[in-house]
Amino acid sequence: MDDSMKPSRRRFVGAVATGLAAGTAATGALAQQGSAGSGNSGARKPLPNYPKPPFPKQQQPWPGLAGKMTPRPDHGETSYQGSGRLNGRKALVTGGDSGIGRAAAIAYAREGADVALSYLPAEEADAREVAELIRAAGRKAVLLPGDIRDEAFCKKLVDDAARQLGGLDILVSNAAKQHAVDSILDLTTAQFDWTMKTNLYANFWICKAAVGLMKPGSAIIVTASVQAYDPSPNLLDYAQTKAAQVAFTKALAQQVAEKGIRVNAVAPGPIWTPLQVTGGQKPDALEKFGADTPMKRPGQPAELASAYVTLAADDASYTTGQVYGVAGGKGNP
Ligand code: NAD
Ligand code: MG
Repeated sequence: MDDSMKPSRRRFVGAVATGLAAGTAATGALAQQGSAGSGNSGARKPLPNYPKPPFPKQQQPWPGLAGKMTPRPDHGETSYQGSGRLNGRKALVTGGDSGIGRAAAIAYAREGADVALSYLPAEEADAREVAELIRAAGRKAVLLPGDIRDEAFCKKLVDDAARQLGGLDILVSNAAKQHAVDSILDLTTAQFDWTMKTNLYANFWICKAAVGLMKPGSAIIVTASVQAYDPSPNLLDYAQTKAAQVAFTKALAQQVAEKGIRVNAVAPGPIWTPLQVTGGQKPDALEKFGADTPMKRPGQPAELASAYVTLAADDASYTTGQVYGVAGGKGNP
């Protein structure tokens, strides 16, 4: 058996390749682990031994901090190696302080992009860690705290990002609200409104502002979810927004194709992030988080980075209106 076909590698490639050429995804996955890129001996590093359930009991007040999670999520801080795939690009990542957005932001900077981060003021500590990593990669970091449930703030956010970065050609619309409630009878209008405002309205306002100033060759990436296709009963409001984001992505992609803007989505499965320890999961479910996937564990944010890089990179120039699943082998079409 060829070394590249060992079962561990086959499983990894299968998990990340939905909707895209497996070769591209595999290249990204290996780069993430430091096996590709420049100045390497060529020896393959072992695959990371990511944590499996059971996880220790923990809850944080929303929006939570990655730095206070046990175990700490891996956002690629020590592992992601770039290879110039996004040299000179200007990116805005909403929710870039933690979780999947942080992994995308770190990877983008190491691939040569300047990065603006949107986050809530309560997440300043996480955001500063990411800014330091972006600067350590030799790129510009712009910090733009504020609440995206406000339309005027969303417009200003995009304008400020473009002004401070000197343009905008990548938007990762990734911020979201998730709060598990078992019964529709207990799901309040206030929560429903909060979820819709964050996941749908803000996504619309931010994408609209970005399209208004993006030039040909730009890319928008929306973070959807496996919940779009395989909704959990206690995520009634959230799952609807994720399904709507898939339709939004496919419709907008067609609208802006002739402007040279590509619009794609990533659909993660269970990923170990603050969203899950701040009410995204019920405390009991959190202990078993990810156990029901074929890999028997949640994904780490770092395992998403190559998807965001691939969808943003110029060599994905014919890929638009697509959904890239990263879900441990279950739930996406
Ligand atoms: P996360 O908590 O690290 O990131 C979510 C971010 O959203 C927060 O860091 C926060 O900055 C931002 N945010 C939320 N409300 C905001 C508001 N009102 N104003 C400004 N910013 C706000 O969690 P994550 O899991 O990395 O989430 C990122 C994306 O991934 C979300 O779209 C989520 O729906 C999606 N997702 C996550 C999972 C998972 O299992 N973690 C699975 C599928 C999809
Ligand atoms: Mg956060």
